[in-house]
Amino acid sequence: MVVFGGRSGEHEVSLASARAIMDALREGGRHEVVPVGISREGAWVHTGDPMRELRDRAGEKPARSAGVAASDRLPPGIFGEVDVVFPVLHGPYGEDGTVQGMLELLGVPYVGSGVLASAASMDKVTMKKVFAYHGLPQVRWLGLTRGEWQGDRGRWTREIEASLGYPCFVKPSNLGSSVGINRADSAEELASALDEAAALDRRIIVEEGVDAREIEVAVLGNEEPDASLAGEIVVSGEGFYDYEAKYTEGRMELVAPADVTGDVAEEIGRVARLAYTSIDAAGMARVDFFLERGTGRLLLNEINTIPGFTPTSVYPKLWSASGLPYEGLLDRLIQLALERHGATA
Ligand code: ATP
Ligand code: MG
Ligand code: MG
Ligand code: MG
Repeated sequence: MVVFGGRSGEHEVSLASARAIMDALREGGRHEVVPVGISREGAWVHTGDPMRELRDRAGEKPARSAGVAASDRLPPGIFGEVDVVFPVLHGPYGEDGTVQGMLELLGVPYVGSGVLASAASMDKVTMKKVFAYHGLPQVRWLGLTRGEWQGDRGRWTREIEASLGYPCFVKPSNLGSSVGINRADSAEELASALDEAAALDRRIIVEEGVDAREIEVAVLGNEEPDASLAGEIVVSGEGFYDYEAKYTEGRMELVAPADVTGDVAEEIGRVARLAYTSIDAAGMARVDFFLERGTGRLLLNEINTIPGFTPTSVYPKLWSASGLPYEGLLDRLIQLALERHGATA
């Protein structure tokens, strides 16, 4: 079963990932696929053609959640009929441990990380604390809540200016695809960035801005995971690697392998695997780094437990550049899911 869509700001990215995954799984009759969609309002769509139905609704503005009956949010009773579930859901209500918890309760094997790693990786504040505990190198950062920001804007502005300075990056703690992320170079920009993040999440993170090359690594496995070769994200035009740069044709180029020395490449792979095991990830994850210009410092940015999965997405591209093509990667993920859940066929 491939589950796609979902209630997060990355709904459409999920549809693109799931479409590619389902086509590849069906290729040559290798697997039988049961498609299951989750609408933006959280309703399960499992009859007819769920992909078409969600895509038809894709342009619509999300309806108020009050419009969905609680019973439509109950999972359909078809999970017992499948061997393994591939949750292709990015962001909250899918990548964050919620769907994983449901699958644990139902006792169905599923691809990717469990509840703990999913939740801890989705929340950047928690993720950074775990990485810090394990001594992994990161930018300076500070966490606050929506209520704290709204309660004393002046105090937080002063605190951020004193501890991080400009430029800084403001992010909703639980999101992805750069949704709600802004760079701030002044107190005015900081305030509007914090307002925007606060509109999207109760929890907010602010980070020291670095001038860096961006490196990403694909990690695959359960207890002793493998790291792909390192790839460099090269964004053309102005600005950082934002939503528009991620999903506009031609704005981003992946250079794999990245042009770094053997020692640096080895260090990147080592830290990527450490990041993965420190948060107890399973199956797959994409680990994002900064390689600071000037100093050459390697800084861990984040881990994504359900990375983008279209054939042109970074995670599968890094594996194909490392010798594991798209279909083989999917089969390996299914095998890892069955192993982890003690259901090896
Ligand atoms: P993803 O789609 O990978 O899940 P995300 O929404 O979780 O992304 P981040 O990876 O944290 O967001 O940040 C998105 C982009 O913003 C980075 O790839 C980088 O271009 C820029 N960025 C984020 N944090 C910083 C920072 N501290 N300094 C400089 N640039 C940053
Ligand atoms: Mg992310
Ligand atoms: Mg992400
Ligand atoms: Mg990222």
